[in-house]
Amino acid sequence: MAGDDSGMNDEPLPQPGSPDLDVLPTEVHRLLYAYLYERRDNPPTMREIRAYAADTLGEAHAQTDRRVRDLRDYFDVPAVRSGREHVYPLTGWSKGKKSGQRKGLSTRLRAEVLAPQRCAQCGRTPLTHEVVLVVDHKLPREWGGTDDIDNLQPLCEECNAGKKSFYATYDEYADEIAAASMHPEPHGRIGELLKAFRGDWVPSGLIGVVASIQQYQEDWHKRMRELRLLGWKISYKRVKDPQTGRTNTWYRAEHWEPWPDGSVRSEIARRDPSNRHNIR
Ligand SMILES: [Zn+2]
Repeated sequence: MAGDDSGMNDEPLPQPGSPDLDVLPTEVHRLLYAYLYERRDNPPTMREIRAYAADTLGEAHAQTDRRVRDLRDYFDVPAVRSGREHVYPLTGWSKGKKSGQRKGLSTRLRAEVLAPQRCAQCGRTPLTHEVVLVVDHKLPREWGGTDDIDNLQPLCEECNAGKKSFYATYDEYADEIAAASMHPEPHGRIGELLKAFRGDWVPSGLIGVVASIQQYQEDWHKRMRELRLLGWKISYKRVKDPQTGRTNTWYRAEHWEPWPDGSVRSEIARRDPSNRHNIR
């Protein structure tokens, strides 16, 4: 069986209480697994999972979200859109992740990412500033980011730690961010991300990263403005960071509209008054 991921995936799901579940890190994980197992035919929303964990285990929401993600090292628990929410069906053993080990980046890829020898955020270099550079996932793996070179950048350890703790504050949106990054069009990725934050402010850096996740978007600001042609209302605020002196911009969706049936891009082009083909 070793090395045969596809075969592993076909094994039936263990019943709650099975010794197979000893692979899970804690008893709480096993209880959450049991809940998802019982709800296989009627998968719960994250709200229901949180309510179960709060009632049965007295757990805080952020803890529950993290544990559901932990389960994914062993089992497939995809976030599937159902109406306005996502449901979390337990569908099988996770492909190739059962060992809990993820394939690391190749030495060659690492070298390629680090080749500029400069932190992509603060611009410091190992030679001049004695910083240590690490390979950073622009969109974290847990949020659906890939090992694709376009999703990797060199960061100094300090910037990397700062980014990690900043992003950790958005952990509760992890599944929605991952779902937004799956949208095939940049307008869709930006719009779904703004929606995911449910009226909360979204940092512009994160929008740029999610917009560019499948294809680099130099002009994602323009893509975001174009959403107004579909009836969206998006506001922004600028806040000066007292520590770095840099001004950060945040956006939030005040109002949104459903996506058109066909391509978002062509619907926007159709409605764009500056598009001379639309003048009759
Ligand atoms: Zn840096």
